[in-house]
Amino acid sequence: MKKIIFLLLSAFIVIGAFAQTTKTNAKPKLVVGIVIDQMRWDYLYRFNDLYKSTGGFKRLLNEGFSCENTFVPYLPTVTACGHTCVYTGSVPAIHGITGNNWFDNNLQRMVYCVEDKTVQTVGSSSVSEGQMSPNNVFVTTITDELRLSNNFKSKVIGISLKDRGAIIPAGHAANAAYWYDAKSGNFITSTYYMQNLTGWVSQFNQKKIIDSLYGLNWNISLPKSVYEKYCDADDNAYESKPFGKEALTFPYDLSAFKGKDYSKIASTPYGNTIVAELAKQAVSAEQLGKNTVTDFLAVSFSSTDYVGHAFGPNSWELLDTYVRLDETLGNFFDYLDKTVGKNQYTVFLTADHAGAHVPEFLQKHNLPGGRWDDGEIKKDLNEFAKQQFGQSNLIAAVAEHDVYINHPLLDSLKLDAKNVLQTISNYLLKKDIVLNVVDKKHAAEAAIPSKIKEMVINGYNPQRSGDLQIIVKTGVMDAGKTGMSHGVWNPYDSHIPLLFYGFGIKQGNLTKETYMTDIAATIAALLHIQMPSGSIGKVIGEAIK
Ligand code: ZN
Ligand code: ZN
Repeated sequence: MKKIIFLLLSAFIVIGAFAQTTKTNAKPKLVVGIVIDQMRWDYLYRFNDLYKSTGGFKRLLNEGFSCENTFVPYLPTVTACGHTCVYTGSVPAIHGITGNNWFDNNLQRMVYCVEDKTVQTVGSSSVSEGQMSPNNVFVTTITDELRLSNNFKSKVIGISLKDRGAIIPAGHAANAAYWYDAKSGNFITSTYYMQNLTGWVSQFNQKKIIDSLYGLNWNISLPKSVYEKYCDADDNAYESKPFGKEALTFPYDLSAFKGKDYSKIASTPYGNTIVAELAKQAVSAEQLGKNTVTDFLAVSFSSTDYVGHAFGPNSWELLDTYVRLDETLGNFFDYLDKTVGKNQYTVFLTADHAGAHVPEFLQKHNLPGGRWDDGEIKKDLNEFAKQQFGQSNLIAAVAEHDVYINHPLLDSLKLDAKNVLQTISNYLLKKDIVLNVVDKKHAAEAAIPSKIKEMVINGYNPQRSGDLQIIVKTGVMDAGKTGMSHGVWNPYDSHIPLLFYGFGIKQGNLTKETYMTDIAATIAALLHIQMPSGSIGKVIGEAIK
């Protein structure tokens, strides 16, 4: 009897192994990567009752797979680093994008993450807006790996209002990346990708849909009582006023900007509308999902970030933006069902970082929070350095919580770097808003909790990082005099949504901690392709069928 059971078991194991090796190589027709700029994970639930059953968020939550505890594993938690991490599965220490802007220690100047003066704008007469490419990224993206996997047969397109939100996700080997030029109101690209703007993008620009959207103005889309229930007052002194000094509350008159000012759309939900419209155009005009291999569309919605910065997470404007985005996403998925086919495409939705509450809103409720300013800190530190070392420009830059020392000057003065850093750290530690200061090069030895330590080290690149990392107290941010910001290690900036949906994806959720770095590895596993060259992420196997 035992022998029979043993034989049966062996047979099952053999069959199992065979089934494993002959597992189908089926792939989705299209992968759609969606980044919602500055989306906090809790927005999935705080506004859940307001999302429609036909909208995007409930569809992903109910039919897809939600990783409920996904964190950003590096500093700083800003847009450029977020988009790079999602698509490379890597961290600034490896992929090189240490901030939206950084002080380059070799070039001795500030560098913008996607700047590239060797290329030119395509699609408008604006000069610098199109001088952009992914050349500052050291590693490959998941989109690059998809192109590499099939001799560049996959089509890869990136779309966003923000240049960095389109360029970085689309990768080095992209077919195209299109971003918004607020001067002309056109979606543009650069000579990195093409010499003349693609016909369908040009036609889209000619329609000037923005003017018709401005014509709709911006009023609340749900009854007033909803906003009163969920939010702080509509008018608050701590809100920025992106539509003019007099425009304090709903309804916002946008028609005055028609044909005149194309920058305002970014701070309205219509910035998301126009990106979704261009994404649909990309699907139809480029026949995405009709290829013999998997195509990839990377879409980043940036208006959530502009609205968040200006009005904060408890504003009527933010609630309205998410309710409308839910509908925009629902329509987009309906469109993909019709054109590509239901369950024929795979979606992931995440954020590049989350965001903090407005400091004055926190203070009003006796919660900790405050403001600081990079520029003022730099000035202050240079004055201090003059007293201490007789040199007023020893601090080259203070950016995104990094203090950069002017190393050529330091060397020429024959000052001891360690002593200078220690003296500056001690001075910073006397400030009320500072929790700790870390000498980045020696972060491994710092007496700080391992979670923060790991995030500092993951964000440290010797050529493109500062010397000192300022860790501010909870709720403190560099956000100007009004509105809010993000960039720190705390959960309010680092806890992001992560949802998978569609082809190859299970229905369910996961409470176990996962990381932004795991997204690219998981998509690579789903597509049976190599993970990106700098990937340190782990496959979230629970999400895959
Ligand atoms: Zn962002
Ligand atoms: Zn932001």
